[in-house]
Amino acid sequence: MTKYEAVIGLEVHVELRTKTKAFCSCPNEFGSEPNSNVCPICLSMPGTLPVLNKSLLEYGIKAGLAMNCEIAHYCKFDRKNYFYPDLPKAYQISQNDFPLCRNGYLDIEVDGEVRRIGINRIHMEEDAGKLLHGEGKADYSLVDLNRGGVPLLEIVTEPDIRTPEEARLFLENLKQILQYLDVSDCKMEEGSLRCDANISLRPAGSSVLNTKVEIKNMNSFKAVQHALESEISRQQKLYETGGEVVQETRAWDENTGKTSVMRAKETASDYRYFPDPDLVPVVLNDEMIDEIREGLPELPAARKQRFIEEYGLPAYDAGVLTSSKELADYYEECVRGYHDPKKVSNWVMVELLRLLNTNSLDIKESKLTPSHLIEMLNMMDKGTISGKIAKTVFEEMFVSGKRAAQIVEEKGLLQISDEDQLAAIIDEIIAAHPEVVEDYRKGKKKALGFFVGQVMKKTRGKANPQIVNKLLLARL
Ligand SMILES: [Zn+2]
Repeated sequence: MTKYEAVIGLEVHVELRTKTKAFCSCPNEFGSEPNSNVCPICLSMPGTLPVLNKSLLEYGIKAGLAMNCEIAHYCKFDRKNYFYPDLPKAYQISQNDFPLCRNGYLDIEVDGEVRRIGINRIHMEEDAGKLLHGEGKADYSLVDLNRGGVPLLEIVTEPDIRTPEEARLFLENLKQILQYLDVSDCKMEEGSLRCDANISLRPAGSSVLNTKVEIKNMNSFKAVQHALESEISRQQKLYETGGEVVQETRAWDENTGKTSVMRAKETASDYRYFPDPDLVPVVLNDEMIDEIREGLPELPAARKQRFIEEYGLPAYDAGVLTSSKELADYYEECVRGYHDPKKVSNWVMVELLRLLNTNSLDIKESKLTPSHLIEMLNMMDKGTISGKIAKTVFEEMFVSGKRAAQIVEEKGLLQISDEDQLAAIIDEIIAAHPEVVEDYRKGKKKALGFFVGQVMKKTRGKANPQIVNKLLLARL
């Protein structure tokens, strides 16, 4: 039986978080009253003139540089013509033959190996409006043009992706980079990051390119992976049964777990591209590009590597901690105030991320700040609180935002390190369990654990474990 491999390319649309829209000065905001962020330009009135937003250009160059692209010294805008009710002027301002960025790549790590995914191009364009179908029980649709003219980058990969998992990993990496650059919030649920995929199959090892199918309507990275998996098995069945894969656009349906035909694929000629006569071409010199290059922040891959080298963290920890810029900043603020980076990593990665997850909170919303954690770690070092109590204190800090010292005082959680006080408790327990003492002396060393447990129970976890052990051993 023939073994097949998939040839996958992605097209990602990213809404940029500029203050204003791409070609007018309307606010670029999500969630406003419908048709409130609009003006004659983004409503596509005849006779209006678009003016390029400088931030759109800068964000595009940043993204291109971060993805190792060549930045064009000359690029221009074109009209992409199509008829659809969300676009009153019947063309989208986009870039066709002279895009802003070309020939880049992103390296992703798949099962410990680096895979290089080529970026064919990144270009600037505007978003269209949004149709609201059958609101309530209406038998009509409404159009909201707030999104019309919102600046977009379209990022097109080479068909270098071979598995649905690689596609998901690529998207996760891309999202991290865009968030580090602070050019987009990348909220898929609000549509600020959208992904279409092209996929064809061929016999493994062959270099032919077979008919490809485009898949749309995927609302999460998981959905992209699932849709591609489903499409691979659909195409494979067609090839195995002598059927034919038709070039078309298919929609992913999360509920059925299947793709279905949306429409026959348009080709470039259907869009009748031509240069937009209202916008002058963009000419860039090296100086402008270099200036933006110098202002780029440290990117996720570089930061991960630095965490490994500078803080001696395992690659896994470094990967988790640099997964978002905010989390990495949080971690570094802790490390600046505390001497043991690995200990900090454990508390942040295990305890803090667990609490954030279960409470569906973002690191930015955490009441437990780096200084909270630093204070608590110092209290542990001084023996003021035990490791066990620290977990309670940590959760309480997370919930209330109170300081560790205050929680310890209010709840009476100070560690008991006073030998006389502990000795009295231990003597009492030993006296109450002569049979266990007997077992211990006969060689049943596990009985020691029983006594430690009893002491902890009696002191509600506050006894200093080292001292308890020392005192118990001396008596048994
Ligand atoms: Zn406007």
